[in-house]
Amino acid sequence: EVKKDTAKVKENEHVDSKPAVNIPLDRKPTVQAARLKLPILSEEQSIMEAIHDSPVVILCGETGSGKTTQVPQFLYEAGFAHGTGIIGVTEPRRVAAISMSYRVAEEMNLSSRMVSYQIRYEGNVTDDTKIKFMTDGVLLKEVQKDFLLTKYSVIIIDEAHERSVYTDILIGLLSRIVPLRHKKGNPLKLVIMSATLRVEDFTENQRLFRETPPVIKVDSRQFPVSIHFNKRTPDDYLGETFRKICKIHRMLPEGGILVFVTGQQEVHTLCKKLRKMFPATQNTGDSLEKKEEGIAPNSMKKGRRGRKKQNSESKAPLPKIDLDNYSILPLDEEADLHVTHGSDSEETSEDEEDMEEIEADVTGGQPMYVLPLYSLLAADKQRKVFNPPPEGCRLCIVSTNVAETSLTIPNIRYVVDTGKVKTKFYDKVTGVSTFKVTWTSKASANQRAGRAGRTGPGHCYRLYSSAVFNDEFEKFSPPEITRRPVDDLILQMKDMNIDKVINFPYPTPPDEEALKAAEKLLISLGALEEVKKTSGKKEKQPGDSSSRISPLGRAMACFPVSPRYGKMLSLGHQHDLLPYVIAIVSALSVQELFIEYEKPHNSEEEKEEFKQKRIRIMQQRKTWAGSGHSLLLGDLMALLKAVGACEYIGCSPQFCDKHGLRYKAMVEVRKLRAQLTNTVNSVIPDANVFVDPKMQPPTDLQAKLLRQIVLAGLADRVARRVPDPPPGADESQKKLKNSYQCMALEDHVFIHPHSVLYKEKPDYVLYQEIVETSKLYMKGITVIEPEWLSTYAPQHCTFSKPLEDPPPRYNAKTGTVVCHMTALYGRCSWQLPAVEL
Ligand code: ADP
Ligand code: MG
Repeated sequence: EVKKDTAKVKENEHVDSKPAVNIPLDRKPTVQAARLKLPILSEEQSIMEAIHDSPVVILCGETGSGKTTQVPQFLYEAGFAHGTGIIGVTEPRRVAAISMSYRVAEEMNLSSRMVSYQIRYEGNVTDDTKIKFMTDGVLLKEVQKDFLLTKYSVIIIDEAHERSVYTDILIGLLSRIVPLRHKKGNPLKLVIMSATLRVEDFTENQRLFRETPPVIKVDSRQFPVSIHFNKRTPDDYLGETFRKICKIHRMLPEGGILVFVTGQQEVHTLCKKLRKMFPATQNTGDSLEKKEEGIAPNSMKKGRRGRKKQNSESKAPLPKIDLDNYSILPLDEEADLHVTHGSDSEETSEDEEDMEEIEADVTGGQPMYVLPLYSLLAADKQRKVFNPPPEGCRLCIVSTNVAETSLTIPNIRYVVDTGKVKTKFYDKVTGVSTFKVTWTSKASANQRAGRAGRTGPGHCYRLYSSAVFNDEFEKFSPPEITRRPVDDLILQMKDMNIDKVINFPYPTPPDEEALKAAEKLLISLGALEEVKKTSGKKEKQPGDSSSRISPLGRAMACFPVSPRYGKMLSLGHQHDLLPYVIAIVSALSVQELFIEYEKPHNSEEEKEEFKQKRIRIMQQRKTWAGSGHSLLLGDLMALLKAVGACEYIGCSPQFCDKHGLRYKAMVEVRKLRAQLTNTVNSVIPDANVFVDPKMQPPTDLQAKLLRQIVLAGLADRVARRVPDPPPGADESQKKLKNSYQCMALEDHVFIHPHSVLYKEKPDYVLYQEIVETSKLYMKGITVIEPEWLSTYAPQHCTFSKPLEDPPPRYNAKTGTVVCHMTALYGRCSWQLPAVEL
């Protein structure tokens, strides 16, 4: 070890003007032994040489090759954290930032004071921190404060293949920061790490780096993975998944199973089914987890009787599982996997016996240690996947695509891939979001398969045919920036004085439509001001420097929330409203505070149980929403009271569970509330807010003012109720009963059944978003008065000339002449009530 290090230092001397250093580490022998097995270790020298030679280096290597854990250590040992700056590593996912910082600290035998992490609301960074793992969003915020990132000597952008929006923007910014730092004589190194070879967007983009960065490929020590395609693509992929897992568990040698499904609900459904089928004592040890998995205590107590039922139930849908159904095909070249042709030794004749055995034995065989994994899962539960399963149990992890690249789960030998992914689609023009389950990309499917070959030869069972894979799968998933609204990004850029947002060196530029929509929204919120051009080009470019950030926009950009919410915060300083606005905005900014109960696809009993639970929780929300002025604030009042109530009792998991709140989200709301309170105090003079654990509910007047503030942020998300169809109307008209018209869409929209205002059917409402499921549903409803629109959303009004209609009138009390003005609202030209001038 020592010899090797000395050699390394010598090597580096001629390429770097800085004195070569070697910071010694005292690693544990077990750690050192494990490191030496990683393919990236043999590349240390070439990687470090490349980093010394070029300001920007791209590093590609299969997941598990050691990029995330080792490269920061290489840099540390080479002295990158002992000169003018520290080592920064960005991760798109919080879970990765945290777990990797712990792992690297452990490998280096250093404390978390030195190898630390920072995510949106928490971290353990100290003055001694040498390696800092953070989410990409955190580093983006730092660029805003210190454009040259002077505290770092090197930035590693990890998981660049995921193409998260912040990663893309950071790479664009760093392409400018790196040369600037060079000019200042204090160079910054940039290392971009990717699990795929698809890096053309970084290397071949003329706008990005002046000199094409070198690409280093780390050979993966990947064991062969046999890919087994289904002959047919089943409709019921979840049923097929379950059958496949049973089959693997019962027939194939030991080794962990990793299963890819599309969402949280599917993860839970499958975990539950598997735990019933192959009980392990450990599966039932954790009472809190039981609740979270939706297993009712009474069904747990039923014991064998309950299982028997399950068993007879499982008998029916379990058809013959024959491996004949799989054609064994080599992967296409894209795959970058070593593929062997699987042997045909697994005989189909065994299947019948196999099924009989399942029938005979209620427990279905060897116990299985089943763990869920998805991004909204509580962190401590996520971490469980790294621990070895209990003795005699087979590990089975049911995951969404989080397990695709950022986490390497040990000892996986079998991968079951549904080939599906659930993605939020966002319509750039209408703003409607839909969750769609679609085929994933070829690149993702190959990543998934690769998880099986980390510790030994593995198998990947694809529950779709090779024809579907070849014909229907896209090569790559599109970068996130092309799939989501960009208003927050544009505001951040304008705040960094990047006026020509269209010219920004995006690795992949966002859609022009999305840029236009974002700019339009920001202008209507008052965050940007249009700059009138006196001369020059006639043709206006989208995202051109025709707008500039306003003082209001600067204030809004300080808040780490959507610009709409930033606007609400900047308006809340009167009437002691800020604590309420902060609480509401915090609750709206975290994903899914109110648990969305999806119908289980299981037994009648479970459906009934689910119905009862939902009724109880909806009643709770209605109680929170209250009546009168309180209820008019609608779903936001329910959120506000939920946050208040939870804080009052000290935010316990039990409280959340009982009241249909997601504990992990509530913890986040708490942190965001504290953070926003600090920011508000620094941005708004004399705000003097604090988080009051005994916050009183708003008064009637305050509730009304809150509705007006919400309107200021959501003026384009107003909907008006459509008159009910006349008696004797035809079917198509009847379908439009209780529907609303909004500005974004031609189609009628409806209040979501989970809204506390579902039954109230107010005339004018605001919504937070429209989602398309069976219908177009508005979520997050608040009632407004139409006469407010001309005051709080004049930008959407077409006003009549004053003095026209109705005629002016003399007010004897005030001694003034009162003029009226009428207005038409928005694209739909709703006639608004007249207002006094
Ligand atoms: P990459 O970033 O290239 O995907 P990593 O550096 O994350 O690879 O992983 C390298 C090795 O370290 C893998 O074999 C993985 O199993 C192991 N490893 C990573 N994190 C942990 C952890 N928390 N506990 C145990 N082993 C880990
Ligand atoms: Mg990694």
